[in-house]
Amino acid sequence: ICGLDRINNPGLNKSLAFTIEERQLLGIHGLLPPVVKTQEQQIEHCKLRLGRLKDPLDKYIYLMDLLDFNEKLLYAVVRRNISEVMPLLYTPTVGTACLKWGLIYRRPRGIYITFYDKGHVYEILKNFPESDVRVIVVTDGERILGLGDQGACGMGIPIGKLALYTALAGIKPNQCLPITIDVGTNNEEHLKDPIYPGIREKRRTGKKYDELIDEFMHAVVQRWGQNCLIQFEDFGNKNAFRLLEKYRDTFCTFNDDIQGTASVGVAGLLAALRITKNKLSDNIILFYGAGEANIGIANLCVMAMISDGKISEDTARKKIWMVDSKGLIVKSRHELEPQKKPFAQEHEKETDLIQIVKDLKPSILIGAAACPGVFTSGVLKQMADNCARPIVFALSNPTSKAECTPKEAYEETKGSVIYASGSPFPPVEYNGKTYVTGQGNNAYIFPAMGLAAMCAGIQSISEDYFLIAAEALASQVKESDLAQGSIYPPIDRLLECSTKIAIRLVEYAYRKKVASVMPEPNDKEAFVKAQMYDTDYEPAIPIFYQMPLGETDKD
Ligand code: NAP
Ligand code: MN
Repeated sequence: ICGLDRINNPGLNKSLAFTIEERQLLGIHGLLPPVVKTQEQQIEHCKLRLGRLKDPLDKYIYLMDLLDFNEKLLYAVVRRNISEVMPLLYTPTVGTACLKWGLIYRRPRGIYITFYDKGHVYEILKNFPESDVRVIVVTDGERILGLGDQGACGMGIPIGKLALYTALAGIKPNQCLPITIDVGTNNEEHLKDPIYPGIREKRRTGKKYDELIDEFMHAVVQRWGQNCLIQFEDFGNKNAFRLLEKYRDTFCTFNDDIQGTASVGVAGLLAALRITKNKLSDNIILFYGAGEANIGIANLCVMAMISDGKISEDTARKKIWMVDSKGLIVKSRHELEPQKKPFAQEHEKETDLIQIVKDLKPSILIGAAACPGVFTSGVLKQMADNCARPIVFALSNPTSKAECTPKEAYEETKGSVIYASGSPFPPVEYNGKTYVTGQGNNAYIFPAMGLAAMCAGIQSISEDYFLIAAEALASQVKESDLAQGSIYPPIDRLLECSTKIAIRLVEYAYRKKVASVMPEPNDKEAFVKAQMYDTDYEPAIPIFYQMPLGETDKD
């Protein structure tokens, strides 16, 4: 491969880190300014460039350009600056990128499959040049973050998630594939925007939609095999639960909005229990919101209670209450969706949250309904009356949607609360103590799940993996984190966290005899680490050595 090809190939380019020797041998000497930089110096340069940009969307565009130009450098920048760069590559900035996807579109990345490609999905997958795809993130753009239907502009999400798979769990860039299934959009603004890049039609649903998804699932297996992970992301509530039920046992798949959130939520609870010093099954949990996030967490809580309290499923469910947009989920409500039914309890109808918190006396309150401020002073005070150390999670994203801020939580409970949020909050001061808010970010879980599925060759991802991942994450919360009020490890330790979680999952898969990568590696840690992407540059020229000409070695 000649030097210019290397410069133009983002996977091989080293920019100014090509040595003088490499430049001369590859025939690119003089085409670069004479300075030779280390990767560390390049990272500093990138940070200077980022620092000059004021608009987060411009920073996003800069980072995506870097990804198109020098992959290793981009991922090195992310790994060294996780807490600064993650909010650019992922929420919240990726949301802005999706809103403006048509405008900022530059270089192709991933695959778009439209409704009109029905019957030809496999042919499209064949067009993708990589033969070793191991992780796919797919969206149909119907519920992008909290931004609603973005149609084909939703592509920013699979791209962003996969960038985190590589940065935080070392899945190699060529093994990742972002996919958008474009079945139209009901977003009027996109429909009338001349630069909207998708199919300009109303969203399709029903039998034909299901057939397209089904064709897609089978085409993936045909092209890349049963072990290729298909992560569903930001599908609308109705399709998300349905498709998960349909495919979870027969494909290597999971839904991050439901199961990834579940795992990170339960991890937070398990860490919080180290402060309250009781079992999950000793608690009453109230969920505000009964959507993908909270139903996912609730189901995993049932599983965790069964195992920690040695109680029946029925007894566990009685300790869990849910509220949706119509109020408390009770048996007398006949119109309940299938995923809510198992949580319906015997109780009169009730809609007032303070009254509910008074009646049921929950010790744990978890909000994921995108109703900002619903955890009012009255609600928080009542939580503090219910028990000595109430646990309150305000998971709704973005920051403006949080059920309550950490400041409100600490003040209204006189500092007794154990609090976590979905979006990042700066540390807060209360009564002379500084509290660091742990962020229940799915990025603690999904990259690790992908890495484990890939390393062990897991063929279907049962619910127990998410509980194992939650336990593995909780066990990485240090006493010093808890002492500051944080029930998650610092975001900057994400790469280390993912690696440890993945190792635990791989060990579990082999113990359960469901791993398909054989023979079983003895040292799982070394095995997992050996498969991970390295951001250090490879030499661009071979090592030279002498060979005797005409004579052979005579010893
Ligand atoms: P979803 O599936 O649309 O569910 C939203 C739920 O909230 C539904 O059950 C809805 O009730 C309920 N709801 C809406 N308005 C309500 C009201 N006024 N009172 C009570 N309940 C109400 O959405 P989702 O995927 O679960 O996401 C919800 C929120 O959680 C979003 O803000 C999202 O960003 C956040 N989230 C955070 C994380 C994280 O921190 N790691 C992960 C995932 C999601 P109905 O069922 O009656 O419609
Ligand atoms: Mn999502």
